Amino acid sequence: MNIKKHLLAKATRFETPFYVVSGSSKGQTMMITAGVHGKEIASIRAANKLVRLLKENRLQIKRGTLVIVPIVNRQAYKRRIRGIPDLNRTFPRKWKDSARHPLSASLFQLAKQFQPSWYVDLHEANGLSQLNPKALGQTLIANPNSTAIPTIKRVASHLNQSIVQKSRKFKVRLRKLPGSGRHAAYRLLKAKAVTAETCWSLPMVTRVKFQMKILEFILAEANMIK
Ligand SMILES: [Zn+2]
Repeated sequence: MNIKKHLLAKATRFETPFYVVSGSSKGQTMMITAGVHGKEIASIRAANKLVRLLKENRLQIKRGTLVIVPIVNRQAYKRRIRGIPDLNRTFPRKWKDSARHPLSASLFQLAKQFQPSWYVDLHEANGLSQLNPKALGQTLIANPNSTAIPTIKRVASHLNQSIVQKSRKFKVRLRKLPGSGRHAAYRLLKAKAVTAETCWSLPMVTRVKFQMKILEFILAEANMIK
């Protein structure tokens, strides 16, 4: 296994590190992003933790290639804000469309370069989906008809087995969100694209733990670890 650090949007005010982890054998390519929204801290911590585990050889990518961008919008992260404009509405929506922000343009360019078969975008949200049908906290989201749906259903049932409080259990949501990274990866790159959302009102350690479990489960589904 080999890990290389690079810079996205290098030498611009949006510059941010990303990591390319190559397994020793061939396999699938997965892209993991966090911090598209700067105040969704547990997702950023989980992505950074994943990088640390890989660097310390406590987790290994056995097959394929993993690309991790732990803090997409560093400017928003510094201020602990969602980001202005909302970066997750600026990705290309259809063929021949272009991204509406330099950062989403760089990120989508990176995705086009690697052509990932999986695209996992980590977020956090208000509310608990079990208590409020409109809330996105504790959900796994894919586009309708996405080939990622069987996987996110398995992730949700796997997580829910070990969650005692019903209100904290995960739900699967199928929705389109044109302009989001997930939608672009699904529609334009034909990736198995997933958004994971933990709930802000839960303790930080719990949220990071959920995000880590989601990542490890999807990496196992893609046959990249173990
Ligand atoms: Zn978000």
